[in-house]
Amino acid sequence: MKDLYLVFMCPRCGSLRYAKEGQKTARCFKCKYQVPINPRRIKIVYKTDSREQAIIALQKLKMKQGMKEEGQTKLF
Ligand SMILES: [Zn+2]
Repeated sequence: MKDLYLVFMCPRCGSLRYAKEGQKTARCFKCKYQVPINPRRIKIVYKTDSREQAIIALQKLKMKQGMKEEGQTKLF
């Protein structure tokens, strides 16, 4: 059986990371929150059976998110 990787958002700070499906929790690198890997409680933005794809998707999403944040800070 192939593993499934989930890219999701931390419900507390919104930072992105990935975890293997079946994992119960994953600690957020940013706010150290122990994120429950439960589709009902977190926002899963990407699903793949390849770890490489999960990492690529994560980087792309982070880049997008980074651009958004940059745009927001310009308002101040
Ligand atoms: Zn977080």
